[in-house]
Order: sequence, then C-alpha cells, then structure tokens
Amino acid sequence: MRIIPITLPTPFYIGPVNVYLIAEDPITLIDTGPKTKEAAAALREGLRHAGFLTADIRRIVLTHAHEDHCGLAKSLRDEAKNAEVMVHDWETGHRVGRLEHEEHRKLLARAGVSDDEIEGMRRVYEGVRLYGDSFAEHEYSALEDNAELEFETGVLRVVHTPGHTPGSCSFVREADRTVIAGDCVLKRITPNPVLSPDPIDPAKRFHSLAEYLVSLARLRTFAPTLVHGGHGDSIHDYEELFNRYVRAIQQRQGQVISLLPLISKAGATAWDVSRALFPDTDDVHRFLAVSEAVAHLDLAHAEGKIEMELSGAAEVYRKPDGS
Ligand SMILES: [Zn+2]
Ligand SMILES: [Zn+2]
Repeated sequence: MRIIPITLPTPFYIGPVNVYLIAEDPITLIDTGPKTKEAAAALREGLRHAGFLTADIRRIVLTHAHEDHCGLAKSLRDEAKNAEVMVHDWETGHRVGRLEHEEHRKLLARAGVSDDEIEGMRRVYEGVRLYGDSFAEHEYSALEDNAELEFETGVLRVVHTPGHTPGSCSFVREADRTVIAGDCVLKRITPNPVLSPDPIDPAKRFHSLAEYLVSLARLRTFAPTLVHGGHGDSIHDYEELFNRYVRAIQQRQGQVISLLPLISKAGATAWDVSRALFPDTDDVHRFLAVSEAVAHLDLAHAEGKIEMELSGAAEVYRKPDGS
C-alpha cells in the first residue's frame, strides 16, 4: 500500500498540515487541508507529482473536522465527481456547533469565561470557519470504529481515537503497523483536548483528556512502527512518544493543581487557571488555553485529587486542605 504524504500550507499558527494519499484503488485522500488558494494549489501539485489528478480521487476520509484538515473536502468532492466523503458522526455536530450553539456558551460559562470574552472567542472562530465548508448530513458517510477501509492490496482499520475532538479517528494498517493519526499524535507537541459538548448528551462536557489517554493506550496495542501525524514529521518510536505524552500530562496536572491555592484560597475557575498558565495568549489561543485548563481540572476532579463547587453558573475548583 503506497501512503504518500503531501504537506500543505495553512494560515494557522500550527503551521503546515499533512494529508495522505493512498495511491491505489479506490484512490483515497486522508484529510484535505484548509480552504485556501495556496493549499489547493499545493495539493494539486502534490497529487500531480504522485501521478494523479484531483478527478482521480474516489474517497475523501477525514481524521477530524478542524478546518486545517477538512476545509477543502467539499470542493474536492465536487471536483472529483461523486467522491465519497467519510467522517465520524461525532465530528459533524462538533464542526457545525463550535462556539455557535448555546451548549458551547454554557460550557464556557461553566469554565468561568465572561460573556464578553465568549463573544470575542466566537468572533475569532467565525473567521476560522471561513477556511472550510460544512456538510449536510446526507453528504457524507459515517466512519465506524473498527471498520475496514478496503483497498486493492489490503485494508486500513478505522480506530476511533477521541480526545483532541470527540470524533477523531486514526487509520491503522496492521500488516506493517503503520498508523495515520491526524492530530491524535503529533511529534513535537501534545495535542490540545478541545473543549466540546458530549456528542451523546450535549448538555454535558466531553471528557476529552480521559478519552484521549484511552485513545493513546489503544493505539499502543497496535505496537505502531510508523505513525503519520497531522502536523510535523512522522514518528518511528511510538513507545517513547507515548511515555513522553503521559509524563507531560501528569506534569501539567500537577502544575494545575498547585496553581489553584496560589490563584485564590477560595478556589479558581478553569478560566483563572488558563490565564495563570498562559498569561500572554490571544485570539484563538484563549479558547485553546481554557480548553486545556478545563481538560486537566476535569480529569483531576474525576481522579478525586481536587474539589469542585458551583458558584453561580461557574465551576470553582479547590485543592483539598492538607493535600
Ligand atoms: Zn485538530
Ligand atoms: Zn490540525
């Protein structure tokens, strides 16, 4: 199975994004890049270099519905007439919903984010949304966990790896233990568990970090020898990366817990923690920063390491006395 990485520019802070061409029937593109002229041109060039045209693509598979990964999906589908688009069901609500629906606002209010600040975040994401088209429900087919995507010479197994987003999926070629992991696994940075409503019950928060740890462990069971991530270089030593991630998550949790009494004896919201952790963040990073704080507080609370109390609409976390 020929897996050909194509790297595309993005207008985002994260930098270029990797998409993957599976160069055998049915010709499949995993992720598409953002909806920009530059990414579209670079993709066309990458395909041409591999000996293909956009029109040859039969299947567009999305690791998740962030604009840097899915933005060009609709226009590619239209150009490659009747190419099938596949994405996990849990991704589509997330995509349509980000910061526009009431449940997102409620989650942010619970995290202690002020109305003004929420409005600012919403405006930033309005801009981000311009880099992708949304899909109606009948325009894609759902990726199912454990399903096999068939190719001429083998299969890619769909592995649902929630965490970064609820519907994030990875694709595993068990024959040579190669994984295409989207933003679940990145070489240089620990992916951000983005604040999302629970896809089953949107009034609840998705337990992104707990889910993420399970996803990392699940990928480990495939003993990957090569992991292609959504950004940056591929990973040859998954075991090293797994241990590094787990350590980084534990360290950040320790840091978050010890910040709580320093911010205030009475406790702190996720927003307070995010401002203490990342005081200089701006734009989209304010949302990502509060996402990170929520994810760590949520997990620490679930593990019984900190206490939580509602103060109005907001959750206030406290380090227990004497701990
Ligand atoms: Zn992403
Ligand atoms: Zn990404």
